[in-house]
Formats: sequence, C-alpha cells, structure tokens
Amino acid sequence: MSEGLTFIATCDLVALTRGRSIRSTEYPERRATGVGWVPADLALTTFGDIASPNPFGSLGDLRLLPVDSARITLPAGGGRPATELVLADTVEPDGTPWACCPRTALVGAVAALETAGIRIVASFEQEFSLAGLAGEPGAASPFSIEAHRLAEPFGSELVNRLADAGLEPETWLPEYGQAQYEITLKPTDPVTAADRAILVRALVRDLALAHGLRASFAPLRSPDGIGNGTHIHLSLWDSSGRPITIAPGGSELTSMAGSFGAGILEHAPALIAWTAPSVISSLRLAPHRWSAAAAFVGHQNREAMLRLCPLITLAGADPGASANVEYRAADATANPWLALAAILRAGLDGLVRRLPSPTIVDRELEAIDSSERERLGIGTLPPDMESAHAALEADATAVAWFAPDLVATHLAIRRTELAILAVASAEERCQRYASVI
Ligand code: GLU
Ligand code: MG
Repeated sequence: MSEGLTFIATCDLVALTRGRSIRSTEYPERRATGVGWVPADLALTTFGDIASPNPFGSLGDLRLLPVDSARITLPAGGGRPATELVLADTVEPDGTPWACCPRTALVGAVAALETAGIRIVASFEQEFSLAGLAGEPGAASPFSIEAHRLAEPFGSELVNRLADAGLEPETWLPEYGQAQYEITLKPTDPVTAADRAILVRALVRDLALAHGLRASFAPLRSPDGIGNGTHIHLSLWDSSGRPITIAPGGSELTSMAGSFGAGILEHAPALIAWTAPSVISSLRLAPHRWSAAAAFVGHQNREAMLRLCPLITLAGADPGASANVEYRAADATANPWLALAAILRAGLDGLVRRLPSPTIVDRELEAIDSSERERLGIGTLPPDMESAHAALEADATAVAWFAPDLVATHLAIRRTELAILAVASAEERCQRYASVI
C-alpha cells in the first residue's frame, strides 16, 4: 500500500493554494526546514501565467515552513488517496520571514493592533456555487430544505469534515442563488480565521470533485448572476478580554471601534484593491446585490461596506459576545491573509489618528440622495479594477502596509489578467474566473 503525502502550501496573490508535497512519514523531520519555493511563484496569475515584468524574475530561493495548526485532510475518494494539506509561512533559506509572505503580513497587522491594545476576533463567511448537482437546481427555492437536500451528501460531509478537522463550522445554508451555498465558521483569532478560510476553500473544491460536482467561489459566474461574497466579521476586544465593539445601549460603536471603522472607510477605495481585487470583482459591488454598494457603516444593512450586525440577547445571551461588524466588500479572488491584513491596517490607522466615528446609516441606501450621502459621509467605491489600483497607488498610507515587491507583484498580476481578458466580454471574463476560482 502506498504512503500518504503531505502538501505544504502557501495561498498566493490570486488566492490559489500552491505548494509541493513530501511523504507524510517524513513530515515530523521536515517540519523545521520545510520545502523549497520560488519567489516568482508569487507572480502567477489566476490563469497560470507568470506576470511579467515582476520583481523576482528567475532568481532566488525560499522555503515554505509548515504551520502545524493550519492543517486539514483532503479525504480519499474517486480513486485518489487522502492528502494532508498544511499551510505554510514563506521564509528565506535561513528562516528569516520573507518580506512578501502574505501570512506573515497578517501576523504583523495583528501584532501592530495588539501593541495598540486591541485584540481582534474574526470569522469568514464564504459563498460558492455548485455545478453538476443531480435533479433540478432551478426548481429548488432559495434557502429551502429542497435546496439543502439537493446538495446532500456533500453538505453534511463538508460540515462533518470541518468539525473533525477542528475548523469549527457554524452554519451551512442554501443561499439565494441557484445552487449557491454558504459555509460559516465560528469566530477566532484573525490568523486562524484566515487560515481556515483558505482550508475551507480547498476542502470544498476537493469534496465537490469527489462528488462529481464543481465548486466555484468566483464573485460572479455571469455579470447578471447572483454574486458569491466572502464576508469578514470582526469584533474588537481590549487587552483584558472585554468586548469593545458596541457601546452600552447597543446601537453605537465605541469610540475605539468608531475610529477603527472610520479608518476602513477612509481607505475604502485602496482596500478594494486588496479585498475585491480581480478584473470582475467590481461588478459585484453594485446596488441591489447585497454585497457593498458604497462605503458606509449601515445598521443591519446588507448594502453597506460595513454592516453593524445585531446583538443577540435571546435566552440571556451576553450581547457583548455577539457584537460585531461585517466587512462585505470582499470576494474569493482575494487572499484571505492579505484581505484581512489590509482591513486591520486601515482600522489601525483610524485608531492611531483617533478618527471620529462614522455616522451609522439606518436607512436604505436607495432612499438617500447624493447631497445627503455627502453629509452622512457615504463614500463611493471604485467602479472598476483600474480605479481601485489608482486609488491604492494614490494612498501613501495604504501602499506602505505591505512590502513594495508585494504591492508591485499584486498590481502586475492583475494588470496581466486585464490584458489577457482585454477583448473578452463581461460574460466571458466571469466564466474565465469561475473556471478557476
Ligand atoms: N451574495 C451576496 C454577496 O455577493 C451576499 C448575500 C448575503 O449573504 O447577505 O455578497
Ligand atoms: Mg450569504
């Protein structure tokens, strides 16, 4: 009988999980030195080409150093043996963190917030579409038991495997779109939450394949279709473990959380370049899509970039524990480590500068005219990728969140993708992304 393999991987700038494997029996002795990696791998586009020019060329060597806590088993099935998947930090051959390691960027953002006395708890909600379901997906209504049953046994297997792997699944649901589903995990520290978001995608795609299905997390599979979002929930805690997201009374942010939110709104256009980074991402960030139609904090509003989520007080539940805001302007073309790192850096900037709390908008966006939007501080989001890039390049604070080579590679990749898709229609662009993401 052949031995199992362990795939040691990073998640790159186009949110694909790439790496190489070793014999699992050798994992204990290889953990400390990892496996080899190549800097220019970071410049791979969604479609498999290396963006050129990029800062690395053919030079350099790195190591992928596995992180034991970020590990999952992709189960045996369809004639394939099980594979252990473990995420890694990218380091120089001497163990120094690589300046462009996306995971290390998040570790750094979390540490910077901790230095400012803030601890963040986060969780990712991920939507995706399943192609190839037997029966009639069109006949199963949104959120219905029929839509739930249509995806069985895939759904229960997914939830059980996530639970067995310690990834703490919370809810599994049939979403609004045809054959669209969503998996949410319990909140945890930011690095673990982002690790888990990456592992969930890998497990969903792998299980789908084993069931003869194809999962796509692409923000849109067609321009007029229902979008797949990756929503990121955040709560703030002080260094002694007290929740500090919502002020007593329940409808206002604390001054700390207000400054944090104001930082996110101020850097919103640049943030989009990290959290909704692909050529098609902006198509999803439009009104009536329940994604994020503008940059504002909305009270329980699903068109807000930041949604103030409800406090759960049922059955004597501690409202402080459920208080959180949801960042809705992210999708699965974004690297979860970098998307969250950028959000945290933007929030930290707001905290450091003690920005005043944004107005919490408690009405439908549609009901607010442009002059009132201005008065309420409701900002617009970049209409397309080029505008998001321009906003990032014009935001000196945001450009400095990550290593210059990381930023340059990120921009080069997406520009290359735009060139690849230059003559493609919006429909074709969505299909191209959906065939990979
Ligand atoms: N599908 C929506 C999106 O693209 C989100 C729907 C919801 O869960 O509120 O973000
Ligand atoms: Mg949803």
